[in-house]
Amino acid sequence: MSNPTLLILAGDGIGPEVMTEVRKVIDWFGAKRDLVFDVSEDLVGGVAYDAHGKPLSDETMAKAMAVDAVLLGAVGGPKYDELDFSVKPERGLLRLRKEMDLFSNLRPAQCFDALADFSSLKKEIVTGLDIMIVRELTSGVYFGEPRGIIDDNEGGRIGVNTQRYTTNEIRRVARSAFELAKKRGNKVCSMEKANVMESGILWREEVQWVHDVEYPEVELSHMYADNGAMQLVRMPKQFDVIVTDNLFGDILSDCAAMLTGSLGMLPSASLGAPMENGRPRAMYEPVHGSAPDITGKGLANPCASILSFAMALRYSFDQGDEATRLEAAVETVLADGVRTADLMQAGDGTPASTTEMGDAVLAALEASL
Ligand code: NAD
Repeated sequence: MSNPTLLILAGDGIGPEVMTEVRKVIDWFGAKRDLVFDVSEDLVGGVAYDAHGKPLSDETMAKAMAVDAVLLGAVGGPKYDELDFSVKPERGLLRLRKEMDLFSNLRPAQCFDALADFSSLKKEIVTGLDIMIVRELTSGVYFGEPRGIIDDNEGGRIGVNTQRYTTNEIRRVARSAFELAKKRGNKVCSMEKANVMESGILWREEVQWVHDVEYPEVELSHMYADNGAMQLVRMPKQFDVIVTDNLFGDILSDCAAMLTGSLGMLPSASLGAPMENGRPRAMYEPVHGSAPDITGKGLANPCASILSFAMALRYSFDQGDEATRLEAAVETVLADGVRTADLMQAGDGTPASTTEMGDAVLAALEASL
């Protein structure tokens, strides 16, 4: 059997710095766990614009469609702020998501014990927290037509966006939430605004349908999204998997993620339909951006990207045990007090550099054997 394939698109700013550390981790799994990946690298974002005049070339798009998983760093930066909207770095990312049809966005909110003090909530509320938000990523109000700003013919204007979901769009993201729940705490909470939105009523009915027909063994509850926001900061540990639409997911996942501390620790996965080999089309990336303020200074925390690779091991390559090994290695490093600057407070001493953090994770992996 041929080796599984990965495409690394490191992108802009701190992207290449953090992806260098991920590459070391990938190589470690090849050398020590017999998990050899065929890895290729290419350009996305501003660096692709510099090279090709667009933020993602057709050749790179074709490569992304051909591999088992894409690992992305970050895109964007002040150098590209004045570019036309159509060639901005972010368009490269959007093209990948759209053409790979990555409809299910997974954002874990997991609190590492060693970082519980970093949460804005009380330690006992977040210690041991481990929830997963599944956000629909390719439809809803961000894409629905009609949209635009029109004249109201009375001297004013009207801004229009349309929330629109089809049966199929709801069912497929619901399935991905139920599948995840089966591998975790077996609970799904679906969030919408069925009290005031027809699209919310359809969302609730279709999620319930998928549950009743295909996943009756998983516990399902429904919650209005505004109450969901409240519950997330009141008692987040009541949740296992939350499934919600694009707009509510955007907000709720940011809120949940911040329960756990720094942006430098947050991974994500975006999954699509299964490919011919049964693996989902997939892209893994840290939640953070290109961090131009710290680029080139060795200050970036590589953990979000390393933990994104752990998600790839689990969701693309069915290597849950190895994913857990990698997550445990990150946890060990933090417990040992190794911290990049974003995980420190004034007076905490000298921070670890990006490379030192990566090396510490490798050492912890080595010690896990
Ligand atoms: P950002 O996530 O890049 O940075 C926000 C803050 O968090 C900064 O102070 C930064 O130094 C810090 N930070 C981020 N990642 C870190 C890490 N790994 N380690 C330590 N500190 C980290 O968001 P921003 O400043 O709003 O945006 C900067 C650029 O990134 C913009 O061009 C934006 O469009 C782009 N962006 C890209 C993505 C993406 O590629 N997915 C996401 C968000 C923003």
